[in-house]
Amino acid sequence: MTHGFERPVTMAAPAPRQSLQGVVRWGEHEVTVGGSAPVRVQSMTNTDTADAIGTAIQVKELAQAGSELVRITVNNEEAARAVPVVREQLDRMGVSVPLIGDFHYNGHRLLADFPACAQALSKYRINPGNVGRGDKHDAQFAQMIEAALRYNKPVRIGVNWGSLDQELLARLMDDNAQRSQPWDASQVMVQALVTSALDSAQAAVALGMAPEQVMLSCKVSGVQDLITVYRELAARTRHPLHLGLTEAGMGTKGTVASAAALSVLLQEGIGDTIRVSLTPQPNEARTQEVVVASEILQALGLRRFVPSVTACPGCGRTTSTVFQELAKQIDDYLRAAMPRWREVYPGVEGLRVAVMGCIVNGPGESKHADIGISLPGTGEAPAAPVYIDGVKAQTLRGDGIAQAFQTLVEAYVQQRYGRANAHAEL
Ligand code: SF4
Repeated sequence: MTHGFERPVTMAAPAPRQSLQGVVRWGEHEVTVGGSAPVRVQSMTNTDTADAIGTAIQVKELAQAGSELVRITVNNEEAARAVPVVREQLDRMGVSVPLIGDFHYNGHRLLADFPACAQALSKYRINPGNVGRGDKHDAQFAQMIEAALRYNKPVRIGVNWGSLDQELLARLMDDNAQRSQPWDASQVMVQALVTSALDSAQAAVALGMAPEQVMLSCKVSGVQDLITVYRELAARTRHPLHLGLTEAGMGTKGTVASAAALSVLLQEGIGDTIRVSLTPQPNEARTQEVVVASEILQALGLRRFVPSVTACPGCGRTTSTVFQELAKQIDDYLRAAMPRWREVYPGVEGLRVAVMGCIVNGPGESKHADIGISLPGTGEAPAAPVYIDGVKAQTLRGDGIAQAFQTLVEAYVQQRYGRANAHAEL
């Protein structure tokens, strides 16, 4: 019985991306953006940039968590003065992640008055809604582009609906009123966001910027609005696109909303860099936004950052939390080990680990993983078989199961991904 299957199903895969490819540099370190480059993870600090040491430490943490570009606010003279110090501290710590300067209102002046800041940054974010009103708008925008040209830096034209160019919006509202069948306000808003980004990009190119060095974003806080705006933007331009749901919110809400919006767009091939704008919960690390962004890309199969842990949700067959604790422990251990492993075990991010709660799916899921453990459910013998490369390798018992399994994972990683072994396999 075939149930009508006359051909194999087509496995869904993200559409190939069509954007231009730019590059963001610091020294020898280059991060390609757009074109065939992988979708990049970006983040933003929440320290006072004037606190150069505190900012450098947070940038380092974000970079170690996997952020490939880090944005810092440059909001006043103290911050502009601190930027080269932040850069110097990072260089001293061996952190080459490019820094992006976030400018509003006074960016034209800060870039002109603080050349060391302009040089230490690898990219400038320009918000066309906040570069000046009336006659000043074009002149101050041009000043920022001239700085980018002078220091050979790419820019991001970052439109945000919370700071949309009000003059442009008013003009488009007036035009809309003349239509025989006026659009609704949200449609005009989308038009205004996209127009602001495209007009500014065109102006930057007219001033001499290479198109691939002009990246665009149009951030809004509603999931469906974001999808609509970016589909429109992607249809109209090949500039690399930075994607993010602005003001996504806290915890589960912010995580789910960001994942929902970004996944739809990424699956359509839209988005060259992403940021997850989470509001940290009390005592939550800023690096959580990097973890979520990385997990979105990894879940979609677009990137691999850390080994994946398959863990069952547990059910009435498990009366203890042993497997939850073990899954958490293994996950934490893998994340903590990654900065070191990345250096010495190339390819280790592709490792698949399974931590399962009972015999129902435990052995099967463990066999599909590179290394997996099936813990005993209620009423089962107190033994935990471990499967390596699909074969039962040994059975763990007693109180030290977690530690013993961790040791087996470390040994497996060393044997499979260690350089000596990698060479031996060639
Ligand atoms: S593997 Fe076992 S414990 Fe885990 S969800 Fe399935 S039946 Fe429940």
